[in-house]
Amino acid sequence: MDGAAVHAALAALVGDAHVLPSPALTDSTGRDVGRPRWVVQPGSTAEVVALVQLCRERRIVIVPVGSRTAYWSPLRLDNSVAVDVSRLHRLEVANGVVRAGAGWPVRLLDQALRRGGAHLPLHPDAFGDTQLGSLVATACTSGIGMGSGSWGQILTGVEWVSGAGTAMWTGAADRSGVAPFMREGRPELTSLLLGSEGGLGIVTELAFRRRPPPWRMRLSGQAPSVLPLFPLGAELAGVYDTFRVQRTSRGSGEWTVDVWVVSTFSAREAAERAVEVARRLRIAGVSVRAPEAETAAARTGRSPDYDERWNGPLNGLGDFLARASLRGVDVNAPWSAAEAVLHVLENLVAAQVAAGVSESRLAMYAAPDFVNFGVHATVLPGESWSDEDDTPTYDALLALPVIPYRVGRRWPRGSADALGSRDVLRALKSACDPDGILAPGVGPWS
Ligand SMILES: Cc1cc2nc3c(=O)[nH]c(=O)nc-3n(C[C@H](O)[C@H](O)[C@H](O)COP(=O)(O)OP(=O)(O)OC[C@H]3O[C@@H](n4cnc5c(N)ncnc54)[C@H](O)[C@@H]3O)c2cc1C
Repeated sequence: MDGAAVHAALAALVGDAHVLPSPALTDSTGRDVGRPRWVVQPGSTAEVVALVQLCRERRIVIVPVGSRTAYWSPLRLDNSVAVDVSRLHRLEVANGVVRAGAGWPVRLLDQALRRGGAHLPLHPDAFGDTQLGSLVATACTSGIGMGSGSWGQILTGVEWVSGAGTAMWTGAADRSGVAPFMREGRPELTSLLLGSEGGLGIVTELAFRRRPPPWRMRLSGQAPSVLPLFPLGAELAGVYDTFRVQRTSRGSGEWTVDVWVVSTFSAREAAERAVEVARRLRIAGVSVRAPEAETAAARTGRSPDYDERWNGPLNGLGDFLARASLRGVDVNAPWSAAEAVLHVLENLVAAQVAAGVSESRLAMYAAPDFVNFGVHATVLPGESWSDEDDTPTYDALLALPVIPYRVGRRWPRGSADALGSRDVLRALKSACDPDGILAPGVGPWS
C-alpha cells in the first residue's frame, strides 16, 4: 500500500481533518524526534482500535504522542503514525469515580473538576498543557500534590488499546459493563502501564477516585541546608500535599522551601496544622514566612492564587520553548539514599554551571515513602549541554538504590537491567505488541 492509499485508509477511519501531515518535530530539549508520516487524531477508543489494527496489518510504526515535553527521549517519530489523543476528552463523575479521556490538558481538567467540587490530586510542576494520558505513560511521581500519593496510588483503572489492537480496561472495569470502582482483588494490569512510555499500548481513558479539593495553607521560606529537611518529608506524611525544596544555580545559594499543608476536613484544621509544620520547619533551619490560606476562589480553580500552582499561563510552554530548551535528569530514591543522590546531583549542577549553562534547578519533591529529585537546566541559545555530558551522573546514580525513573533512550543501555525482571518485561512487550509496532526502542522494553 503506498502513502496515498494509507492516507486514504486513515482518513476513512478518523476523518480527513484529523490526519495531519507533519514536519520534523522537536521535543522540549530541542532534540529532533523525527518526522512522522502523519499525526492522527482519533475521536474515540473504537477509532484508536481501528487505527492500531490498520497499522498492524501494514506493519507501520505507531507512537502515542502528547505535548512532546518529555526530556528523556522516549519519542522517535520518523516514518511513524503519531497518535495524538487530544480529541479524547470525555468527562464523567459518577459513584465517587472520575472517568476522564486521556487527551485532557491537565490544567483544564483540574479546573473542570474543581467546578464540580473535585480536583486532580497530582500534576507536573509545569504549565498544565500536557495530557492526562501521559501521567500514566510517564508514571508521574514528581510535581504538585506528591503528598497525595503517586498516580499509581490514585488510579482506579485505565482504558487502553494494546499493540495487538485490543481495547481493555484494567481494574474492576475489566469485567465488561462494570464501573471502574477499584483495582485490588486479583492480578490486574494497571501498574504495568505506569512508565510504559507508549511501548505497551495507547492510553485512552483514566479512572480515579473523586477527591474533594483539600483546604490548603501555604508555607514558604528559605533554608541554608536541605539535609535537616529529609526526616520531615516522611514524618509529616498526611499533612502536606506538596513539599518542594529547590535551588537554582542563579540563586543566593539558599534553598527555597514550599510546603502546602492540607486538611480534607476544614480550613481551621489546615490552619492549626500549618502552625505546627511551621514550627517544625523552623527547628530544621527554615526561615518561614507567615502561613497564607488559599482562597475559596482558588479551591474552585478561579483566581490568581489558583494560577500560582502552575509555572505560568496555559500555553506558557510555547513561550518557554521559544526562548530556551530543557535538559533534565530525574530519579526516585528511598529517603535513606537521599543524601547520596543529592551529592550526585549537586555535582551535575556544578558541571553545568562550569560549562556555561546559566540556569540549573535542583529540586526535591517529598512523598511520604520516597523522594523525587530532578535537575532541570534551562539552556539558552549559545549555551550547550550534550547528552554525553550526563553520562557521569547516570553512572553515579546507577551505583545507588534508585529507580531509573523515565528510561526513554537517555539512561545507559544496561540501566534497564536495574528495572529487574527483564525476561518478563520482554515477554509482556511481545504479548501486548506482537509485531513490535508500538514505539520501538523505548528503554524498558528493548
Ligand atoms: C518545564 C517542564 C517542567 C516539567 N515538570 C514536570 C514535573 O514536575 N513532573 C513531571 O512528572 N513531569 C514534568 N515534566 C515532564 C513532562 O512535561 C511530563 O512528564 C508530562 O506528563 C509529559 O506529557 P506530554 O503530553 O508532553 O507527553 P510526551 O512528551 O508527548 O510523551 C511522553 C511519553 O508518554 C507517551 N504517551 C503520551 N501519551 C500517551 C498515551 N495516550 N498513551 C500511551 N503513551 C502515551 C509517549 O509515547 C512518550 O513515551 C516537565 C517538563 C517541562 C518541559
